[in-house]
Amino acid sequence: MRIPFNKPYFTGKETQYIEDAVQSGKISGDGKYTMKCHRFFEDRYGFHKVLLTTSCTDALEMAAILIDIQPGDEVIVPSYTFVSTANAFVLRGAKIVFADSHPDHPGINEEEIEKCITPRTRAVVAMHYAGRACNMDKINSLAEKYGLYVIEDAAQAIDSYYNGKPLGSFGHLAAFSFHETKNIISGEGGMLVINDERLVERAEIIREKGTNRSAFFRGEVDKYGWVDIGSSFLPSDIIAAVLYAQLQNIDLIQSRRREIWNDYDKLLNPLAQQGFITTPYYPPGTTNNGHIYYLVCRSGKERDELMTHLKEQGILAVFHYLSLHRSLYYRDKHDGRTLPNADRFSDCLLRLPFYFQLKEKEIQYISRQINEFYKRRLL
Ligand SMILES: *Cc1c(COP(=O)(O)O)cnc(C)c1O
Repeated sequence: MRIPFNKPYFTGKETQYIEDAVQSGKISGDGKYTMKCHRFFEDRYGFHKVLLTTSCTDALEMAAILIDIQPGDEVIVPSYTFVSTANAFVLRGAKIVFADSHPDHPGINEEEIEKCITPRTRAVVAMHYAGRACNMDKINSLAEKYGLYVIEDAAQAIDSYYNGKPLGSFGHLAAFSFHETKNIISGEGGMLVINDERLVERAEIIREKGTNRSAFFRGEVDKYGWVDIGSSFLPSDIIAAVLYAQLQNIDLIQSRRREIWNDYDKLLNPLAQQGFITTPYYPPGTTNNGHIYYLVCRSGKERDELMTHLKEQGILAVFHYLSLHRSLYYRDKHDGRTLPNADRFSDCLLRLPFYFQLKEKEIQYISRQINEFYKRRLL
């Protein structure tokens, strides 16, 4: 058996909608399908304002421009995250103050944030790892106390909730990803959610190369020109056509992904009970959107051995996130604090194959192979 880590799932309507977009004669940004996607998100999740972008990375870069990050400003970012979470702010000259992960899960340890705040701190980035919400009550109350912006990196958090409210609706801004490896995909693609009304007008300008073109097309100004800095952050309507086909099937996709997650969890629970591995935990008030199934091994060495064992059985399991405070690019700029939890997840976390088409018998095979591996080990 050969089981890849990821396989994109297509609902069947993607090519039809691409064809339709092409036939309509307009495939640049903010066409018919982009508008349908915007409406979908605003209706389903009640987001104040959404704008499709070419990636989550771009949405984060827009966020950094929107909150006016200046050289020397500090931004608190978890170390255990994707590069873009920090890089977006570094592009504007920010100093990144890395926060450790929670001891029990890879997300930011809310208890560590306050210690990282200085008079130069401007923002906190909350990354919802595996769609599991950060403690937004705590983060938002700290932000209010110190006058900080909150940016959600919700790249992995589509269709997930915190205390009944959708992730992406807690920060001043939130960034989502539709990269091929996420639950809902358009190949490359992303979205900026603007929950703070004061940032909406400027968000449109930044997304349109620093021009007030969006207002012009709505007839609000009689000519458009260069009014601010910006870039080309809006995707072609072809991308939105693919995305819309996916969104129409979001409930189907999400329910299958949650099933896969639960199958893994049931089959691996005994190993966790015995203390060989740690499996993910979603506390009350958070939801599981079936984005990743991961396990945390007891050591980096054991993780690597398990990964090799699975590979020999045709199963591609992968780790990720070399903690950013130890990255080649940032380690000399980091303030030297050790972040043991982030390092432990870097060394010991392993993600199992996860995609819509994954069959029950494949999940059983993968779980059996993991059990086999631990049969020969001692506690
Ligand atoms: C996938 C991911 C990104 C980047 O998304 P792109 O759309 O590829 O730019 C950023 N942050 C996190 C946490 C991610 O998982």
